[in-house]
Amino acid sequence: MADVHYDAIIVGAGHNGLVAAFYLARAGRKVLLCERRSFVGGACATEELFDGYRVSSCAYVMWKLEQKVRDDMGLDRRGLTMHLIDPPVFFPYEDGSHAFLHYDMDRTVESIARLNRHDAARFSDWVDLWTRATGLVQPYMLTDPPTLSDVWERAKASGDEAVLERFLTSSLVDLAADHFEDERVRAMMLYVQDIADPHAPGSAWAEVFFQFGAAGGHGYYVVEGGMGSITHYMAEAVTEQGGEIRCDAPVAQVLVENGKATGVRLESGEEMRAHLVVSNADPKRTYRTLFAPDDLPGDLAQRAERLKTGTGYFKFHCVMDEPPDVSGYLNGYDGPPISYIMIAPSLDHYARAGAEMRAGVPCSEPICHLQVPTLYDATLTDRGGHICSIWGLYAPAHLAEGTWDERREEVGEGVIDYVTRFVPNFRSAIREWMFMSPWDIEQRAGITDGAIRHLDVVPSQFLNGRQSYDTPIGNFYLCGGGTHPAGEVTGAPGHNAAHHILRTNA
Ligand SMILES: Cc1cc2nc3c(=O)[nH]c(=O)nc-3n(C[C@H](O)[C@H](O)[C@H](O)COP(=O)(O)OP(=O)(O)OC[C@H]3O[C@@H](n4cnc5c(N)ncnc54)[C@H](O)[C@@H]3O)c2cc1C
Repeated sequence: MADVHYDAIIVGAGHNGLVAAFYLARAGRKVLLCERRSFVGGACATEELFDGYRVSSCAYVMWKLEQKVRDDMGLDRRGLTMHLIDPPVFFPYEDGSHAFLHYDMDRTVESIARLNRHDAARFSDWVDLWTRATGLVQPYMLTDPPTLSDVWERAKASGDEAVLERFLTSSLVDLAADHFEDERVRAMMLYVQDIADPHAPGSAWAEVFFQFGAAGGHGYYVVEGGMGSITHYMAEAVTEQGGEIRCDAPVAQVLVENGKATGVRLESGEEMRAHLVVSNADPKRTYRTLFAPDDLPGDLAQRAERLKTGTGYFKFHCVMDEPPDVSGYLNGYDGPPISYIMIAPSLDHYARAGAEMRAGVPCSEPICHLQVPTLYDATLTDRGGHICSIWGLYAPAHLAEGTWDERREEVGEGVIDYVTRFVPNFRSAIREWMFMSPWDIEQRAGITDGAIRHLDVVPSQFLNGRQSYDTPIGNFYLCGGGTHPAGEVTGAPGHNAAHHILRTNA
C-alpha cells in the first residue's frame, strides 16, 4: 500500500470533477483526480477527430456555465474566449420558408410573423410564461436541490402557483397548442429534450431546466479552441490550488472498509488512501463498475439499475469544403454568417423520433442541430474548410436489430441525406465525416448508455429527484451530472457537491 494519503480522491476529471476538486483544494484539502483517459474534460473536451481538425467531440455549445464557477476559477483571466452565436438559431423548412430566433424579442416576433401572424402576437405571452416557470427553478442551481414543497412556497410568494400547477400537469404539446397554431412555430418554441415525448402529461415540468441560460442570460457561445478550452483552464485552476491530476489512471475499484470508502485501486493495481472518495462518473457506471458487489448496501445496486438513462442522442461530425449553404431561403440576407441551423419541422417529428428511439430503431427524420464553429474560431484548423457538428435527437443506445458497428455507416448516410433535404450543399461539400451513436459516446466518454446528462432530465429525476451528493456508503460522494441540477456544462453539480462535502464532512 502506498503511503500517500489524500483528503479526497475524485474519480474522473470531467468538468464537474475539476470544479469539485478546485473548491476542495481551495478549502485546503489535499486532492487527487484520477482520469481514465489521457486528457481531462470528459464530455467537455476538444479532440482531433480528423487529421488537422480539432473538434468539440461531445458538448459543442456553451450556454449554461455558472458565472460564479467561471469567476472563482478565473477562467476568463486564464484565457477563456467565447464568441456569441448570433443569430442564435436559423430554422429552414422544406416548403422553402424559414425562421430565425433572435436574442432580440422584436426581431423574433417579426420573423415568426412571416410564418404566422397570430403566433407572432402570442410570443410575448409565451416568453412571460416560461420566464415565470424558470424563475421558480433557476435560484436553486447553486444550492442543494429543493423539494417540490420548497418550489410551491416560492410559487406562492411570487403569485405563480397557477403557473407551477400548469407545468406539473401539462404536456409540452398542450402548452404549445395553447399559444400557437402553426406546427413550425410550435416546434421552434420548445426544447423537447430528455422527455422525448412532447405528448406526455407533465412533460413540461423538467423541460424548464432547458429554458434558461447561465445567470439569466440567453446567450449561446462557441468556445475558442473548442469546449476543451474550458476544462483546460479548469485543470489549470485546480493545479494552482495544489490539486493533483493524473490522466491515464482508470480507477478499477473504490476501496471500502466497514461501510466507508477508504481509497481507490487503479487498474494498474496501485492503491491510494483517502479520507473520502468522490465519483464524477455517472451513477449507473459508478455503482456497476466501481464497487465490489458486497460493498453496496441494501438494494442500492438494484435502485441504481432502475435509474433512467434511456434517452439517447447522436453526434455527427464532418469537415466541409464550405459551410452549410442556406442562402436559397434568404433573399438578400446580409447579416452575419449563419452558424447554427436547427431542423425541427414539427412537434410530431419529435414524437416520432422519440418513439423510434424507444423501439430501438435509428431515427428516420431526426431533429438536427447543425453548428459550424469555424465560422467564429480560426484556431481549430489551419487546413481550410469548415467543421460542422450535428447534435441529433434521438438515437437508441441499443439497437433492436444489429449492432452500431454494423449500422453506423448506413445511419450516418441517412443523416446526410436527410440534412441535404434542408441544406442543399450538405452532401456535396462534405470531405470526411464520422457518426457517433449513444453506444459510441459511451465507449468514448464513459457515460452509461451515452446519456448526455448522466441521468435523463425527466420529472422523476429533476431537482431532488436526482441522485444526492452523499450516498449510502460512508465517505463516498457523487459530483457529476447525475446529481442536482443535472448534466450540461454548468459546473453546478461539482460546485454543489464540494460545498456539501465541506459543510458535512469536516
Ligand atoms: C454528445 C454530447 C453532446 C452534448 N452537448 C452539450 C452542449 O452542447 N452544451 C452543454 O452545455 N452540454 C452538452 N452536453 C452535456 C455535457 O457535456 C455533460 O452533461 C457534462 O459535460 C457532464 O460533465 P461531468 O463532469 O458531470 O461528467 P463527464 O464529462 O461525463 O466526466 C466524467 C469523467 O469521469 C471519467 N471516468 C469514468 N469512469 C472512470 C474511472 N473508472 N476512472 C477514472 N475516470 C473515470 C470519464 O472518463 C470522464 O472524464 C453534451 C454531452 C454529450 C455526451
